[in-house]
Amino acid sequence: MSTLFSDIESLRGTGKVKAEKYRKIGIDSVYDLICHFPKKYFDFHCNVSVQNAITDEYNCIKLKIVSKLPIHTTRNNLIICKAIATDGIEDITVTMFNNIYAFQYLRTGYEYYMYGKVTENLYGKEMTSPIYIHANEKNHIQPQYRLTQGLTVNMVKADVKQAIGIMHNEPFETLSEDIRRKYSLETLMWSLENIHFPKSMKSAEQAKKRLAFDELLRLQLGMLIMRKNSEKHTAFKMKKSTNISDFIKSLPFRLTGDQKKASAEIIGDLCSDIPMNRLLQGDVGSGKTAVASIACYFATKNGIQSALMAPTEILATQHYKTLSGFLEPFGVRVCLLTGSMTTKKKSQIRAEISAGNYDVIIGTHAIIQKDVEYKSLGLVITDEQHRFGVSQRSALAEKGDMPHKLVMSATPIPRTLALMIYGDLDISVIKQLPAGRKPVKTYAVTGRVRSRVFNYIRQYLDDGKQAYIVCPMIEDSESDLFAVKSYAENVMKSDLKNYNVEILHGKMSAQEKESVMQKFHDGKTDVLICTTVVEVGVDVPNASVIVIENAERFGLSQIHQLRGRVGRGQSESSCILITDNTSEECRHRMQIMSKTNDGFEISEEDLKLRGPGDFFGNAQHGLPPMKIADLSCNIQLMNDARQCATEIIADDPLLEKPYNNPLRMEVIRLFDKDIIG
Ligand code: ADP
Ligand code: MG
Repeated sequence: MSTLFSDIESLRGTGKVKAEKYRKIGIDSVYDLICHFPKKYFDFHCNVSVQNAITDEYNCIKLKIVSKLPIHTTRNNLIICKAIATDGIEDITVTMFNNIYAFQYLRTGYEYYMYGKVTENLYGKEMTSPIYIHANEKNHIQPQYRLTQGLTVNMVKADVKQAIGIMHNEPFETLSEDIRRKYSLETLMWSLENIHFPKSMKSAEQAKKRLAFDELLRLQLGMLIMRKNSEKHTAFKMKKSTNISDFIKSLPFRLTGDQKKASAEIIGDLCSDIPMNRLLQGDVGSGKTAVASIACYFATKNGIQSALMAPTEILATQHYKTLSGFLEPFGVRVCLLTGSMTTKKKSQIRAEISAGNYDVIIGTHAIIQKDVEYKSLGLVITDEQHRFGVSQRSALAEKGDMPHKLVMSATPIPRTLALMIYGDLDISVIKQLPAGRKPVKTYAVTGRVRSRVFNYIRQYLDDGKQAYIVCPMIEDSESDLFAVKSYAENVMKSDLKNYNVEILHGKMSAQEKESVMQKFHDGKTDVLICTTVVEVGVDVPNASVIVIENAERFGLSQIHQLRGRVGRGQSESSCILITDNTSEECRHRMQIMSKTNDGFEISEEDLKLRGPGDFFGNAQHGLPPMKIADLSCNIQLMNDARQCATEIIADDPLLEKPYNNPLRMEVIRLFDKDIIG
């Protein structure tokens, strides 16, 4: 007997071969199949007459097959199937290419709803490559699925029907009636049935809402539980009286108000025995590193080791330089540990770390490897955290007894999304930029004026400044997009032939990247032609102009990140966006970039333009994958899910009450490990 969670192969009519195909698209159990939601629907409701069909568009027409013409194969093996059909008044030709299978099922004298593109020529109207259902089919809305070779829509439909039948025998529900009523949600059973076989598009929407809500809710619950779990532990409680004023006075600048506030919040957390779980959000160049250095100094004075993890070696090295510059004069021992160091060097440093001879350890993910042992790790700082997944966050946390955690992100995220993605964290925000920072002047132009752009760049270069040029690709491809390598070859022969040009991209080894960045940093390179690898936090104050080719390819927040590479020094800086895309949307996006330098405003706009889907779609958030929420969720639903999760957790912090068991199972399934512990 097949049950909901038994193997997909237990379905009637599903043998080894078909089961293998299902597994290929991630379906292992009967329930997985139910959760294989349609990617879209065809609505056969709205049907028109042949006469009223709009030509060159998709129409749905109820047609009776009058006659089928002989199948015809062209010289290049194209199989053409034609039939004459009628709506009772007017005839139309129905044509299918290379689809004998679908054609064979059409029977003369029978009626179908046919959906396809209608064209008109001298001989009359024609519908090409239609999909169809029998006119007596009750479900006028037909699901379409993500498939794989050998798996057809009809097979999936039949199997899903069977699976839903099985679920009817063992129905379950994760949300109480109170919750469903409060957030206007249908039952789980109804929603799972209607996501596959909706009676109307409205039912499909309702089902989608419920299922997306569930997914967001599970995500929130997982986050809140992780948080509750970490609060159960005790962290090292540092001393409020620790004096840091000499250190702050020694910094080469005065802290901004927001920097002071963030530092105070962090220090407040460090002086509690509940482990800190804080996100420090601040626009590029807002001075998060200085705040991090204060936290490290504070920890060191309390006899505690700090670790700072950056996503790339370039960034780790840069942080090492900055922090050792600030901290070493105060006797703080800072070290760098990265993957590309020699084995000998690494083991040497590791030994020193475990002996407690370093206070601040900076590096890439190398610092969270199993073989790194700390003497007294009590503070863990992760920079540019959106590049680290939830699991990496927790791997690092497992290092110390239960260290205080600070996560720094330069991607301003609208508050709702931040709560969604970092639901397990408190948030500090630096909005104010350091005084005297000049906003980067931003221009959007088309490729026709590229030679003028190069004139402009050369003015900067001749002034002793440096430039970045960003391309979306590394190597030439079939697309027309600019690629770093060929672009560099070109300009080195032409527009920039008298300048030092270097390239930087993600396929280079860590060492190559490092040495290129070093040279750029030291001013030996004038122009760096690169992909978005420079996006993250690279700090070269003398770089004053950045050109972004194929600007239409980048999200607003991403362009903002790139733009943050310049404007870090004293002089005026520029950002030039080049795009040949003339669509209204692209123009609007470029306008926003030219108009504002405020990362939070930009991210709000980005959210409005692209919807949360893209924020979730963007694999960088490191969250468990979303199946349906990214297709349909909206801000309201996110807020609802978050509120609901908070209420559930307030009542049952670890989902231990029997009635929360189904929900608990779902949370565990989503996070793919027992975060509940
Ligand atoms: P983020 O990491 O937030 O992008 P950084 O900490 O790298 O920013 O700071 C960017 C630049 O601004 C650095 O060169 C830093 O020395 C400088 N800076 C930081 N805080 C201040 C401040 N309060 N006043 C002036 N300059 C500052
Ligand atoms: Mg930074």
